[in-house]
Amino acid sequence: MPPVDYLKDLVRTIPDFPKPGIQFRDITTLIQDPWGFKQAIDRFVEHYRYTPIDVVVAIESRGFIIGGALAHHLNTGVAIVRKKGKLPFKTVKLEYALEYGTDCIEMHVDAIRPGQRCLVVDDLLATGGTCQASCQLIERMGGNIVGCAFIIELPELKGRERLSQYDLHSLIEFDGE
Ligand code: AMP
Repeated sequence: MPPVDYLKDLVRTIPDFPKPGIQFRDITTLIQDPWGFKQAIDRFVEHYRYTPIDVVVAIESRGFIIGGALAHHLNTGVAIVRKKGKLPFKTVKLEYALEYGTDCIEMHVDAIRPGQRCLVVDDLLATGGTCQASCQLIERMGGNIVGCAFIIELPELKGRERLSQYDLHSLIEFDGE
């Protein structure tokens, strides 16, 4: 496979979005690129090829794009984690702390069956709060987390330490927040 720096070059960085001091790592430029999108998915497929996985759990919203493509290759279904108020059927909810205030995620009550082996997918790992909340929700429904996959990791925000009980895999890393 070509060096991972090619993938890094396809991510667009937008300074001070959505607030001053944040470097927004925009993956739309990577997934718009036919080679880049295929490379990213192929690398995940290669990594998880021999891991038994029953369901890919994709986190709103950029996680849906990666999770859908990956599930297709791994021959699994996709379950989705959404922000509060978006899902039409009965849900289970989890409120979690942000730097200021709280956020709430939901899944349908029947999204995960007890004992299912779940791979959690999002575009980016920052503090790990979103992924941790998603894992807790999945575990509350009886699912087992076999791994968490991200295109981008921001190591300085120490999400990996927060999620130390899980097996994490990211394709590329960026310095800073
Ligand atoms: P966290 O819960 O802190 O790990 O944040 C992860 C979520 O926030 C992911 O769904 C990302 O899409 C988004 N996110 C956090 N920081 C950034 C960033 N610097 N650039 C792009 N997306 C980000």
